Amino acid sequence: MKMDIRFREEVDNVLGKAKELTDTGIKKTDEMIKMSRLKFGCIKLDNRIKQKYTQLGRDVYKMVKTDSADSDLIASSVSEIESLYKEMNVLRKRIDEMKKIITCPVCGTKNKYDSEYCSNCTHRLMVTDVAPDEYGYDAGE
Ligand SMILES: [Zn+2]
Repeated sequence: MKMDIRFREEVDNVLGKAKELTDTGIKKTDEMIKMSRLKFGCIKLDNRIKQKYTQLGRDVYKMVKTDSADSDLIASSVSEIESLYKEMNVLRKRIDEMKKIITCPVCGTKNKYDSEYCSNCTHRLMVTDVAPDEYGYDAGE
């Protein structure tokens, strides 16, 4: 029957579209999870950095109050804060890569991922070998 065939075609069509949507839906969800993990990682690092600054402030306050100086303690706090900032930059770069943007290291302008030069300050942007889609995220859990 003619109607029957048309109906079946229609069903196949709808099912096909549904599958397409599901596939991209899964990919989107996966990316959203990765993205929220990265953002959460940034928030956690930000809190740790703030804690370190507070501790450093307390240490310095105590040193001034007691008229003592422990430059080793200060230096180690500073290097801890530095390494936390480095971790933060790695996460931020991954977020950029997922958003397919590249942040200019000189002026902070967000450029399209494949830009060769910064649109604001014309700084030559770093060329990466890894395309954003192939970038594997290792949560390190
Ligand atoms: Zn720039």
